[in-house]
Amino acid sequence: MTPLADILVRRIRQQGPIRLADYMAECLLHPDHGYYTRAEPFGAGGDFITAPEISQMFGEMSGLCLAQAWLDQGAPAPFTLAELGPGRGTLMADVLRATRGVPGFHAALRLHLVEASPRLRAAQAAALPDHAPVWLDRVDDLPEAPLFLIANEFFDALPIRQFTRHAAGWQETMVTVQDDRLALALAPPSPLAVLAPRLADTHPGDVVEICPAAASVTASIAARIGRHGGAALLIDYGGWTSLGDTFQALQSHAPVDPMAAPGRADLTAHVDFAPLAAAAATAGAAVSGLTPQGDWLLRLGMGQRAETLAARLQGAARDTHMAAFRRLTAADEMGTLFKVLGLYPADSPPLAGLDP
Ligand code: SAH
Repeated sequence: MTPLADILVRRIRQQGPIRLADYMAECLLHPDHGYYTRAEPFGAGGDFITAPEISQMFGEMSGLCLAQAWLDQGAPAPFTLAELGPGRGTLMADVLRATRGVPGFHAALRLHLVEASPRLRAAQAAALPDHAPVWLDRVDDLPEAPLFLIANEFFDALPIRQFTRHAAGWQETMVTVQDDRLALALAPPSPLAVLAPRLADTHPGDVVEICPAAASVTASIAARIGRHGGAALLIDYGGWTSLGDTFQALQSHAPVDPMAAPGRADLTAHVDFAPLAAAAATAGAAVSGLTPQGDWLLRLGMGQRAETLAARLQGAARDTHMAAFRRLTAADEMGTLFKVLGLYPADSPPLAGLDP
């Protein structure tokens, strides 16, 4: 058993089963034993690899998309350039490099990073030495100012609650102790107001997930964009509406039992964008269509950028580069599974590359 499993078994014995959301939050962010606080998750030697770690082109396209929105809105100064869950800082470093040539952008930006892990904050400080980042614990602490924000694979790490449809209501997935080990179990059925609309499109036995934190984070971002201008690019894997069990654990690039080693594996769930779009619209921002990542990157010119970079490379380096291009854009790789949702002010032009 991991040290965190010990802690959770003792707590559940004393206080009863806990929600999946509480289990996920402890596994990812426990101050001593949490996955992001403790481990080095990223890259070939880690547990998973993200788009900015695959190729610099991902951050370059993201940066140009945000800078275009900033220009379209009259180049407000100063403004907040923000990232949620910046990992190793690679994405923001590429955003900053790609926007160096945009007149006034660097002088006007105030860099804010929302990051829970002290270990990753240190990595981000090393990767971003030039813009004196301000670290925040919460999105609600972002300044009241024009906000240009990116979040890649942040929402999939936020804790979800999971329910199984029952004739008489919903049974919540709980984490309990069986035979001295952590195990999943369903609570007795009860009605749930937030899931009332899902009675129309689900059947007994169907599983749906909700992520309350994701909707409130999105509302907080959208309110700032509505009040002060700005743009947000929310990029993650998932779809429009939740259906089915998407809670999963990854260790060394392979799926593992999410109960087996709490704190040692990455835990994620698919992001459902419909509740985020609804929260953003209610909070006062316009919302783009949900756009496949591959379409967005290609419309922003990543094909030409890939050719330009390829011309400087030879042999294995060129092959790796072209494989990375394919991995980010192809429908059978990350191009379709990953989606982009854009938020922008209702009275401003839509964001480059996104579906209307
Ligand atoms: N965006 C990066 C890293 C994605 S991993 C990339 O694309 O490579 C998820 C990131 O979100 C990590 O930096 C993790 O520490 C951070 N994170 C997860 N949950 C968080 C929370 N509740 N609050 C703040 N940061 C969080």
